[in-house]
Amino acid sequence: MTSDENNAPQQGAVLAVVEHSDGKLTRASLEVIAAAQKWAEALQAPAEAVLVGAPDVELGAELSRYQLRAVLQGRHEALRSYAYDVYTQALQQLITATQPVLVLFPHSYRTRDFAPRLATRAGRALISDVIAMRVEQGKPVFTRPIFQGKFAADVAATGGAPYFVSLQIGAFQEPPRLGEQPAPVRDVAVDPEPSRIKSEAPFHEAQQTVDLAQAARIVAVGRGLKEAKYMELAQQLASVLHAELGASRPVCDSGWLPMDRQIGSSGQTVSPKLYVALGISGAIQHLVGMKSARTIIAINKDPEAPIFEVADYGVVGNLFEVVPALLEELKKPS
Ligand SMILES: Cc1cc2nc3c(=O)[nH]c(=O)nc-3n(C[C@H](O)[C@H](O)[C@H](O)COP(=O)(O)OP(=O)(O)OC[C@H]3O[C@@H](n4cnc5c(N)ncnc54)[C@H](O)[C@@H]3O)c2cc1C
Repeated sequence: MTSDENNAPQQGAVLAVVEHSDGKLTRASLEVIAAAQKWAEALQAPAEAVLVGAPDVELGAELSRYQLRAVLQGRHEALRSYAYDVYTQALQQLITATQPVLVLFPHSYRTRDFAPRLATRAGRALISDVIAMRVEQGKPVFTRPIFQGKFAADVAATGGAPYFVSLQIGAFQEPPRLGEQPAPVRDVAVDPEPSRIKSEAPFHEAQQTVDLAQAARIVAVGRGLKEAKYMELAQQLASVLHAELGASRPVCDSGWLPMDRQIGSSGQTVSPKLYVALGISGAIQHLVGMKSARTIIAINKDPEAPIFEVADYGVVGNLFEVVPALLEELKKPS
């Protein structure tokens, strides 16, 4: 490489902003990397991953396995625990330094908190919960669900790059491509001011909530389970399948399961490998939260239940007969 090439300004990249929890990348982050790789191709730009966190967060090597132009790390002691103002500042500094064309986030609780602020600081809007992108006349057009997922709208930003987009969890199931050689890991200096807010303990720890978005298997319960006392049956199935328990809204409203187990438009959006729906009708508000699950098994006594429209396998029957039979089979030694 000549020194001219070395000094040439780097082309603006598609940045995949990844998240980590307990020292591990979240599954949604891998989806964001996969989307960044694909969309970078469409926009004829390179893809890069961005990690912000405390100085001892060591995920650079893991990220560098993926086919990326670079892994950018913005690490600072002030980023040890999450606070929206510090994260916004750090990412703003990183974006100013790297001039990306597109900044992609997972549509997580955390990014919902700081990403709109970050976009506003750059004089842009956040296009949220995006499920697809295409390029028209050189500009990206994003698709996002509206009206509780009944319709999909195409959205184009009026301003220029950088575009700020959050990606619906589960919209990108394919794993990110691995690179032939490790991507270079580069530290980008960030120096956020100390936070002006005093955070409570993180949401899931304070409330003992579960992040169902990360679950690989979910057994979800609907009003067809009739009464709280029958939760034991669903729990047994979940245990045998090593699955988390989820629920439709009426189940949580009735207190059979805590609110953090609710799946749907006013609950969590999930994309497990396996989703078993027990006595769930499949109202649009529920479907919008789970229809991107890889394999959906529905057990419902009503053959017309809308859940069967999204199910890969459907059992029309009484769950109080089907689930015990299923448990018996699953418990047999293989
Ligand atoms: C603004 C708004 C937001 C909402 N947000 C959410 C949300 O986030 N998540 C959500 O889930 N809902 C949400 N809802 C509610 C949603 O519209 C539905 O009312 C709800 O999803 C229905 O839950 P369900 O399928 O458990 O119950 P039901 O619709 O009552 O369905 C029960 C099903 O069980 C079947 N069944 C009954 N007995 C048996 C049996 N013995 N064996 C097998 N099957 C049986 C029945 O055939 C039926 O299909 C929202 C609604 C609104 C208006």
